[in-house]
Amino acid sequence: MTTVAVVEDDAEILAAVTRGLTERGHAVRGARTGLGALGEIVEQRPDVVVLDLGLPDIDGLELLRMLRAVSAVPVIVATARDDEQEIIRTLDAGADDYVVKPYSADQLDARIRAVLRRVRADDGDEPVRIGGLTLDGRSRVASIDGQTMDLSRKEFDLLWHLAGRRGEVVSKRELLAAVWRQPYGGPEKTIDVHLSWLRGKLGESAREPRYLRSVRGVGVMLVDPEDA
Ligand code: CA
Repeated sequence: MTTVAVVEDDAEILAAVTRGLTERGHAVRGARTGLGALGEIVEQRPDVVVLDLGLPDIDGLELLRMLRAVSAVPVIVATARDDEQEIIRTLDAGADDYVVKPYSADQLDARIRAVLRRVRADDGDEPVRIGGLTLDGRSRVASIDGQTMDLSRKEFDLLWHLAGRRGEVVSKRELLAAVWRQPYGGPEKTIDVHLSWLRGKLGESAREPRYLRSVRGVGVMLVDPEDA
């Protein structure tokens, strides 16, 4: 069972999130103030923290920085606005992922599972295997069908992020925030170019995809071609 600390001052939202996550098999501990949450998180060591940025007693971003100074616990930030600048600031401050309010329990549950997969992959000796693709998070080496891939740092980061969410469509906006961590004027072009390079190195093309499936207008997902 995963223990999730939910920091949320709105009692109604906290109750709904607690119910939704409990139904999905998580143990939930709620906190309604930032400073109260900080002590509890340090003491109780939850597996993951869901942190509302708009708290009454302390700025959520400030709390995140304080937490990062003392704990490596994965943090998913809940933000009220779909504001790219804010999302980038929170990722830079050490958030592992984010959800935009209002979010569903299903979405939050999926983000929690993805974050934990990434953390466990980072921690473990075991490389991530998806079909013939192997990603070693520690050495940052990727191979396809036993052949080492010659990847740039960003290409590896992109594959790694997609592998953490395997089988899920990941939006280009999320990839820009999580992998590039900075805004771009014509943003999606950057991702398209990197995806095209990755496809070449994976031995596939947009017309004949295997691992990388684009969903027009939504994003891209990494799949095991044998499952697809
Ligand atoms: Ca709030």
